[in-house]
Amino acid sequence: MSKQERRGSTSRLYSCHDCGKQYRWKSTLNRHQLVECGGKEPLHQCSWCSYRAKQRGNLAVHIRKHHPEKLTK
Ligand SMILES: [Zn+2]
Ligand SMILES: [Zn+2]
Repeated sequence: MSKQERRGSTSRLYSCHDCGKQYRWKSTLNRHQLVECGGKEPLHQCSWCSYRAKQRGNLAVHIRKHHPEKLTK
Protein backbone atom coordinates (compact mmCIF):
# COMPACT_ATOMS: atom_id res chain seq x y z
CA MET A 1 0.00 0.00 0.00
CA SER A 2 1.34 3.32 -0.89
CA LYS A 3 0.20 6.83 -0.66
CA GLN A 4 -0.48 8.31 -4.00
CA GLU A 5 0.83 11.72 -4.51
CA ARG A 6 -0.20 13.50 -7.56
CA ARG A 7 2.23 16.07 -8.65
CA GLY A 8 1.09 19.25 -10.22
CA SER A 9 -2.56 18.77 -9.48
CA THR A 10 -2.63 20.65 -6.26
CA SER A 11 -5.23 23.27 -6.86
CA ARG A 12 -4.38 26.11 -4.64
CA LEU A 13 -7.17 28.62 -4.50
CA TYR A 14 -7.09 32.13 -3.25
CA SER A 15 -9.99 32.83 -0.98
CA CYS A 16 -11.45 36.17 -0.01
CA HIS A 17 -11.06 36.94 3.68
CA ASP A 18 -14.36 38.74 3.79
CA CYS A 19 -16.83 36.48 2.05
CA GLY A 20 -14.91 33.25 1.50
CA LYS A 21 -15.24 33.19 -2.25
CA GLN A 22 -12.47 31.28 -3.91
CA TYR A 23 -10.55 32.23 -6.96
CA ARG A 24 -7.91 30.50 -8.95
CA TRP A 25 -5.94 33.59 -9.74
CA LYS A 26 -4.75 36.15 -7.30
CA SER A 27 -5.44 38.95 -9.74
CA THR A 28 -9.07 37.85 -9.98
CA LEU A 29 -9.34 37.82 -6.21
CA ASN A 30 -7.87 41.29 -6.02
CA ARG A 31 -10.38 42.52 -8.52
CA HIS A 32 -13.19 40.84 -6.61
CA GLN A 33 -12.15 42.49 -3.38
CA LEU A 34 -11.99 45.87 -5.03
CA VAL A 35 -15.14 45.69 -7.09
CA GLU A 36 -17.55 43.16 -5.66
CA CYS A 37 -16.61 42.82 -2.06
CA GLY A 38 -16.62 46.49 -1.28
CA GLY A 39 -13.41 48.03 -0.09
CA LYS A 40 -14.04 51.12 -2.10
CA GLU A 41 -16.96 52.53 -0.22
CA PRO A 42 -18.63 51.35 2.97
CA LEU A 43 -21.80 49.39 2.55
CA HIS A 44 -25.06 50.56 3.95
CA GLN A 45 -25.74 48.36 6.91
CA CYS A 46 -29.29 47.62 7.98
CA SER A 47 -29.88 48.71 11.55
CA TRP A 48 -32.05 45.71 12.34
CA CYS A 49 -30.39 42.78 10.68
CA SER A 50 -27.16 41.81 8.98
CA TYR A 51 -28.26 42.93 5.57
CA ARG A 52 -25.87 45.21 3.75
CA ALA A 53 -26.65 47.09 0.60
CA LYS A 54 -24.26 48.62 -1.85
CA GLN A 55 -26.68 51.37 -2.65
CA ARG A 56 -28.69 53.40 -0.25
CA GLY A 57 -31.84 52.92 -2.32
CA ASN A 58 -31.53 49.16 -2.04
CA LEU A 59 -31.36 49.41 1.71
CA ALA A 60 -34.52 51.50 1.71
CA VAL A 61 -36.29 48.83 -0.32
CA HIS A 62 -35.03 46.16 2.05
CA ILE A 63 -36.27 48.03 5.11
CA ARG A 64 -39.66 48.55 3.56
CA LYS A 65 -39.91 44.85 2.77
CA HIS A 66 -38.44 43.28 5.87
CA HIS A 67 -38.86 45.83 8.59
CA PRO A 68 -42.04 47.72 7.68
CA GLU A 69 -42.91 48.13 11.34
CA LYS A 70 -39.85 50.31 11.78
CA LEU A 71 -41.20 52.83 9.34
CA THR A 72 -44.63 53.27 10.83
CA LYS A 73 -44.84 55.87 13.49
ZN1 LIG B 1 -15.22 38.67 -1.03
ZN1 LIG C 1 -32.77 44.41 7.70
